[in-house]
Amino acid sequence: MKFGGTSVGDGSRIKHVAELAKEYRDSGNEVVLVTSALNGVTDALLKSAKEASETGKTSTIKEFITDLTKQHHQAAQDAITGKKAKKIVEVVTEELDSRLEELEKALIGICYLGELTVRSIDYISSYGERLTAPILCGSLNSLGIKSRSFTGGDAGIITTDDYGNARPLEKSYSLIIERIEPLLKDSIPVITGFIGENEAGIITTLGRGGSDFSASIIGAALKADEIWLWKEVHGILTTDPMIVPEARTIPVISYIEAMELSYFGAKVLHPRTIEPAIKHGIPVRVKNTFDPSSPGTIIVKDLKQSKDIVKAVTVIRNVALINISGAGMVGTIGVAARVFTTLANAGVNIIMISQGSSEANISLVVDGSHLDKAVKGIRAEFKNGIIKDVTQDRNICVVAVVGAGMANTPGVAGRVFGALGKARVNVIIISQGSSQHNISFAVSGDDAAKAVQVLHREFGLDGEN
Ligand code: ASP
Ligand code: MG
Repeated sequence: MKFGGTSVGDGSRIKHVAELAKEYRDSGNEVVLVTSALNGVTDALLKSAKEASETGKTSTIKEFITDLTKQHHQAAQDAITGKKAKKIVEVVTEELDSRLEELEKALIGICYLGELTVRSIDYISSYGERLTAPILCGSLNSLGIKSRSFTGGDAGIITTDDYGNARPLEKSYSLIIERIEPLLKDSIPVITGFIGENEAGIITTLGRGGSDFSASIIGAALKADEIWLWKEVHGILTTDPMIVPEARTIPVISYIEAMELSYFGAKVLHPRTIEPAIKHGIPVRVKNTFDPSSPGTIIVKDLKQSKDIVKAVTVIRNVALINISGAGMVGTIGVAARVFTTLANAGVNIIMISQGSSEANISLVVDGSHLDKAVKGIRAEFKNGIIKDVTQDRNICVVAVVGAGMANTPGVAGRVFGALGKARVNVIIISQGSSQHNISFAVSGDDAAKAVQVLHREFGLDGEN
């Protein structure tokens, strides 16, 4: 079970987590906990590291450490209650203080050096989880449950050296079994999410939001019956409830569909999160810590082709459209290669691609924040000839309709675009991959909400039809 930042937002939330874990253990399960940092702490750590390297002000660091200390001491006091609380709080506080002291030294070091490497960023940001795990562990102890806390590395997550985006090495799987499995009989181990270490023992991180990934690696290694990701949402929804209040929790979804959804901005899961689970065929459940009795969404390997063709409709905002055109492009080999190489070199993330068979234009949707460098790059690359015109549009959104049931079902695209047409929504660019699990298109930003509402209704996702 992994608990996200909001689920461990403060001491009373942490206590709730410990009680939940105890409840599941008491009903006959073996449980491993993976924890995130207290809500907002990872961001705060990153910000203070950046400030330290830029301003070199040690006084700001002292203030930051004082605040962080208060926050975590308070959390420990609130999370650890009962007869033995005093003793346990003492032990936990001592551990927190020694972590905080290391952190302060590291930040001061960054102040003096005036530089922040990717390796130091990982080291600093690891403290959020490393300050939370001992508190959760203490909270379990205070409920009479044996527990020990581990960093990801201690638990056996050994990664590549890609700081900020490290990947687990295969040997992690056997190390986790060796180190964690023997403890399950009579305790609940608590493991920091988000962090691992490389082969030299240096702390790495698995990328923002990476504690889901940690849980998935650990669950896969231990061949868990299920991997549970506890969040502050009811699971994976049919769409954004801010746009469609009738949006519902999807009870069962397949790995493939969940991956399509994550790519398309559902933000509940990052696709890489479930990779280890997929490889080992382990179901992943997304549950709400604020409503533990509701079943959430379970993500499974195979789904009998269900009657719902479309599972969800998602929208991606903060994207921009680029249209590249020129008669010289027709039949000229290598134009697309040059466009994409240029964009890659400029560090542009491409979200959608479309070229019609006339070959006279290529349309792309990119991250909104990458638009300027994308356009600048393309103009420079093609300054003499072939491409005549590069236009851009920030006022667009991508909408994606997702569902494995769409594959080989004729008429789905017809229904999608028919419904949009009836609602007078203009479609700007369209893309469907040959997996047929996803139809994506872009519309004007002003039409995005309407497009989502229309499609949500068309495919009966609000439970009508
Ligand atoms: N604490 C890390 C972050 O905020 C990892 C996580 O929460 O999953 O990105
Ligand atoms: Mg977090």
